[in-house]
Amino acid sequence: MRNNSLLNTVLLCVIAFLGLGNVAVCQPNAKSTLDPKRAFSYLVKICDIGSRVTGSEGMRIQQAFLDEHFTRLGGSVRWQSFETRHPETGAKLEVKNLIVSWNPDKLERVFLCTHYDTRPFPVNDARNPKGLFVGANDGGSGTALFMELGHALQSLPMKVGVDLVFFDAEELVYEEPRDPYFLGSTHFSQSYVNDSNSPRFRCGILVDMIGDADLQLYYEQNSFKFARPLVDEVWGIARELKIKEFKPNVGYEIKDDHLPLNTIAKIPVIDLIDFDYTRGVPKSKSFWHTMADTPDKCSGASLTKVGKVLLEWIRRQE
Ligand SMILES: [Zn+2]
Repeated sequence: MRNNSLLNTVLLCVIAFLGLGNVAVCQPNAKSTLDPKRAFSYLVKICDIGSRVTGSEGMRIQQAFLDEHFTRLGGSVRWQSFETRHPETGAKLEVKNLIVSWNPDKLERVFLCTHYDTRPFPVNDARNPKGLFVGANDGGSGTALFMELGHALQSLPMKVGVDLVFFDAEELVYEEPRDPYFLGSTHFSQSYVNDSNSPRFRCGILVDMIGDADLQLYYEQNSFKFARPLVDEVWGIARELKIKEFKPNVGYEIKDDHLPLNTIAKIPVIDLIDFDYTRGVPKSKSFWHTMADTPDKCSGASLTKVGKVLLEWIRRQE
């Protein structure tokens, strides 16, 4: 079954060629094609909002933007809200995960997830650690990619239910180690365990910092530990699709939203993350958590290369 669509595509091309003589142009499932320019334009729009910290005005603008976008594309939009305290002021703060579903009635499901909040400040910025942090790669890239994937999911044949999950409060962190990470994904995981009527999530893929113009995705060590078969499957698809940015070597160990999903919800989830965010300059200072994490360091091509692998993974779910 694995190469079905390729076979179909080849057959369609042959038929088109035989039937119409000189027609040699082949457009397989054009609606599922991802558009790097449009993906990048989403990234720019998200960053133009400015800071998107949990509970902020920027976050509210982003939430309305995403709600409108996915509703227009035919996704089923649901908000999962809960309250926390602002780490600095102690004021009540609403945290909102966004869940966009395709085939919402299917009980057997897979999901793609990302965080869509930005860190309050660019703490690694040598010149201005209290400056503006727009998180193009860190917070923006996964969100922009999922906006682009929405177009393809409209028409992608899928046998299971598919959810795009946007976690809030991944890094509502003003001071370490006082402030906890992963509030949104932890709440999502606890709700999943406590809700006996919840559909079953077979597995999931987390993306974070996948917009780097110099993209290199290595095996992340916790993903290996918790969900090795899924790592092998995803890198295998990338190899088949000749997407060379997926490197079959072990990279960093990253603490990310996949930890609560694996340990609390017990859902196998892997993390696609490029933690070397230096524009390919060895030993150069990383843009991570600095004011320089802006769209010019990212590319639409990187986003859609990851997107192609994710779509193919979804298409193969039986
Ligand atoms: Zn971050």
